[in-house]
Amino acid sequence: MEETHDHIVARPGVFEIAVRAIAVAKGEGHRVTTNTTIYRETDVDEIREMLELVTALGVDGVLLSPAFGYEAIDKSVVMTRDEIIAKFRAIQSFDTRYPVLTSPIYREFLRGERTLTCHAWGTVTRNPYGWKGPCYLITDQVHESCHDLLTQTNFDDYGPGRDPRCEHCMMHSSFEPAAADAAASSIRDLLRMLRWTVT
Ligand code: SF4
Repeated sequence: MEETHDHIVARPGVFEIAVRAIAVAKGEGHRVTTNTTIYRETDVDEIREMLELVTALGVDGVLLSPAFGYEAIDKSVVMTRDEIIAKFRAIQSFDTRYPVLTSPIYREFLRGERTLTCHAWGTVTRNPYGWKGPCYLITDQVHESCHDLLTQTNFDDYGPGRDPRCEHCMMHSSFEPAAADAAASSIRDLLRMLRWTVT
């Protein structure tokens, strides 16, 4: 697990620092959640091992999300849509035993059991250059304000089937908001999300 992690971030020692930081933060009484990005190299057993580790460290929640091949990262480590679905189907056998924060509707999407449309506007990104449009992953334009990003971007142009760059994207930054939106459109899904939220 440590070797895989440090290979992905291309810097030895980061795993050990991150684990130590979690322990220190919990020791000081902070609420701590982790965000794990799953890559092609990530072994499903290592995901289980990681969940055991962070649960033992007392984290309050864990996000699990597939990596996506945006401009800044090595494309050989990210998965295709079919690979993502296979990986998340395997994870399904044990993820509910841990404090995983990924919503049930988004998990269904990750397992290929339902479709969701990209809601890139649902989690916007600001970095030192400005507000990234359309999303965290693709930068077609950088805006000076969030208002400009939201009003000047035609979000309907993006998403799988609309823009080839989006073909394999199943990122939580855009599809968790879509899951929330889907829940608002169905009493059954709304009740499931409410139950998941309170439990
Ligand atoms: S599908 Fe949405 S979040 Fe993913 S790369 Fe395309 S615009 Fe960005």
